[in-house]
Amino acid sequence: MKPERVFVGLGSNLGDAHASLQRARAALAALPQTQLLKVSPVYRSAPVDAAGPDFLNAVAELETSLSPPALLHALQAIEQAQGRERPYRHAPRTLDLDLLLWGQQVIETPELVVPHPRLAQRAFVLLPLLALAPGLVHPRLGPLAALQPAVAGQRIERLPDAANAIARPGR
Ligand code: ADP
Ligand code: MG
Repeated sequence: MKPERVFVGLGSNLGDAHASLQRARAALAALPQTQLLKVSPVYRSAPVDAAGPDFLNAVAELETSLSPPALLHALQAIEQAQGRERPYRHAPRTLDLDLLLWGQQVIETPELVVPHPRLAQRAFVLLPLLALAPGLVHPRLGPLAALQPAVAGQRIERLPDAANAIARPGR
């Protein structure tokens, strides 16, 4: 397939969440037919529609020639390899990888909806996306920066850079 610019959301709120994000970063960098271009700073956020402790979240920017279902399945394999179980919907998770944006494409199949349907309502997705790519445009909703005021009430903090190991290459 023609290479596309793709954004993947990373989240973890169980165990050593920071280590989970770092392992996820390494796994994304090792995907076939894919280049890991950038990883956002790490954010800490209160659970939304989910149980358990605070989440750590980040967003990765990839360029990939995989098809959308092939990348989704690869992301699910990474989640499984990190021991994710799904005892119930929205359970705490060691690692959640969501496909957020696929270029300007709109994909609606039973197993995959892109842009991710809850992207615009979640500060923990919007803020790291905008940190990576301030000019990013949602194919239906327009410039992402304009969506930020709507999530301003959500509790989220960007971790200080010293705590931000996954944003730094070579660590
Ligand atoms: P959530 O991330 O919403 O908490 P899960 O990670 O358990 O829930 O995902 C449940 C299902 O969502 C997966 O089986 C997958 O097929 C589907 N899905 C639909 N669109 C997407 C997307 N853009 N990214 C990741 N999964 C998606
Ligand atoms: Mg998911």
